[in-house]
Amino acid sequence: MEVDTIVQDGVGEDGPPAHAERRIDRVLLLVAMEAEALPMVERLGLVKDETLIAPPASCVTYISQDGRICLTYYGKCPNTGMCSVGTVPAALYTYLAVQAFKPDLVISTGTAGGFRARGAAIGDVFVASATVNHDRRIAIPGFDAYGIGKLQCVAAPRMRKDLGLKFGCCSSGNSLDWHDTDMKLMLEHEAAVKEMEAASVAWVSSMFGTPLMCVKAITDIVDGDQPAHEEFLTNLAAAAEAMQGVVPRVVTYVMGKQIKDLY
Ligand code: SAH
Repeated sequence: MEVDTIVQDGVGEDGPPAHAERRIDRVLLLVAMEAEALPMVERLGLVKDETLIAPPASCVTYISQDGRICLTYYGKCPNTGMCSVGTVPAALYTYLAVQAFKPDLVISTGTAGGFRARGAAIGDVFVASATVNHDRRIAIPGFDAYGIGKLQCVAAPRMRKDLGLKFGCCSSGNSLDWHDTDMKLMLEHEAAVKEMEAASVAWVSSMFGTPLMCVKAITDIVDGDQPAHEEFLTNLAAAAEAMQGVVPRVVTYVMGKQIKDLY
């Protein structure tokens, strides 16, 4: 797959959009944690729906009155009672929600670590150019690229400019912290954002042929000097508030437009 140019704030090239003619009339928001989801549910005026996705799936779904906006968060892990973060629940619930809701656009949203070297500060909101995995190292020809699993996202340069959002590659892995090999891969892919779900949401969305946008609010600085878990807890509320402000504006912006109108 081509290596794209990662740039900040819409300077430079984003490449031509895939799904250019697709009109966005139904939007599915996917979120890992309850604390990220509930402020958006409130701001968007969504109502809980218990019919779209049946148990034993433990994700939780909300829908707008006009039926055009659906938000699914990954619910509580049945074994530990904790929020189901990470790539496995993300893949499962992306599959179920896309199959049930049939969106024109999936938006993976939530919190993330940001790279200061790529312009990130706490509370910033980023739109992803592409998603990669930094914890799938398979040193066999062909499987190496499968492991990284780079997929292009709806980078929406026009929308970013209009809404004042930052831009860069989003790297996913199943740990909140990182080790040297993770960091090497993230730097190689010029990651601006690090989180635990987007690459997996991208993989399932591509299986359905549904375009994906990633909108991530920064809770912690990956290339800073504080451990992610401390910063995360301190800044979760601020980042959730940033998402509550930005995500409804993103949804309003894209609704009724064609993908090419976002470029
Ligand atoms: N400590 C939290 C759990 C955080 S798990 C709690 O007690 O509830 C991290 C979640 O936030 C994941 O959904 C992930 O996508 C996102 N995230 C935020 N910052 C991250 C970082 N630096 N690295 C990886 N994931 C991060």
